[in-house]
Amino acid sequence: MDHPIGRPLAELDTPALCIDLDTFEANIAAMAGYIADCGKQWRPHAKCHKSPAIAHRLLEAGAIGVTVAKVSEAEVFMKAGVRDVLIANMIAGETKVNRVAALCRYGDPIVAVDHFAQAEALAAACRRLGVSCRVLVEINIGMDRVGIRPGPDAIELAHGVDRLEGVRLVGVMGYEGHLLRVEDPEEKRRKIDSAIGLLEEARDRMQREGICADIVSAGGTGSYQFTSHCPAVTELQAGGGMFADPFYIEQCGVQGLSPSLTVLATVVSRPMLERGIMDSGRKTLNGELHMPVVKSTVVGRSLPDATVTALSAEHGFLKLGPESQDLTIGDKIAVIPGYSDFTTVLHDRFYGIRGGQVEVVWPLEARGCLQ
Ligand code: PLP
Repeated sequence: MDHPIGRPLAELDTPALCIDLDTFEANIAAMAGYIADCGKQWRPHAKCHKSPAIAHRLLEAGAIGVTVAKVSEAEVFMKAGVRDVLIANMIAGETKVNRVAALCRYGDPIVAVDHFAQAEALAAACRRLGVSCRVLVEINIGMDRVGIRPGPDAIELAHGVDRLEGVRLVGVMGYEGHLLRVEDPEEKRRKIDSAIGLLEEARDRMQREGICADIVSAGGTGSYQFTSHCPAVTELQAGGGMFADPFYIEQCGVQGLSPSLTVLATVVSRPMLERGIMDSGRKTLNGELHMPVVKSTVVGRSLPDATVTALSAEHGFLKLGPESQDLTIGDKIAVIPGYSDFTTVLHDRFYGIRGGQVEVVWPLEARGCLQ
């Protein structure tokens, strides 16, 4: 559709990635409010949306900047006017450190490091350009992905980075991603407190030894309702809650948010009474962490006994119970992605929907930014 704005949702061609704007705005307000009420700052991870237009909405809602995973994502957001971007990832290789140094001319990026070699290369690139880049030491707080070992190793690294000219050490970060799915809330709280305690210990020792540790950054959507209460944390990276997929709500126990993202799909075949096939398969929706969930027809009639059972490249398999068996070829249905990150990157644009009409189109400008 060439000019979708103002047109009814039901007229959108499919598959189409749609945001229910009322729910999306309520999720953003709930996250921003929760984090602010805990006295923390919010730097939401942009990997779920990859859209500068959405980043600007988040800044208006109180975010201090965005978190990204890739240098090329940081380039897109910073060139779109987001000055304060945390690249919460390890950056290696001359090409990339030169690009990060060049970004210091657009704003004030922060980069995570977990080894002196990364910091040394970045510092050298910054000195060549006559700029200075903020750095956080990333500590392994139990996820066993990246991050330096907590304790003396982390402190030694902090001292080494602090002595480098060309970078400015501003604190520590860690991601408690291994604790998102702990079921019992008390156990989750205890485990998150103790993981974040490792960041607190590092911060305390850095400050005692005269090193800047103003920022303590942590927290994803699956944990922010716990991590926001940890006294040492200064800012939260939680982002995906703006879409609040079933993964977060059902598997991580996130409270007070509702799914806002759907893929509008068309039923293209009805081979059997109990089986429908939609035009949205693996190239449109991802089922890895949680299978997509059928929400309703495009006009809002719920389909309580329709489930997505499998995805092949271009086909989604629907199992239809008695209440959904009147679906016919050409019907459009709204399907909630199980985990938005892996689905949004398959699409070029979001359609923002309000009152059954397309209100806005947001391109995913950082889609494909993998470097
Ligand atoms: N921070 C880092 C470094 C991450 O890798 C992730 C998720 O993978 C998050 C935060 C949480 O992001 P989200 O809130 O979108 O789940």
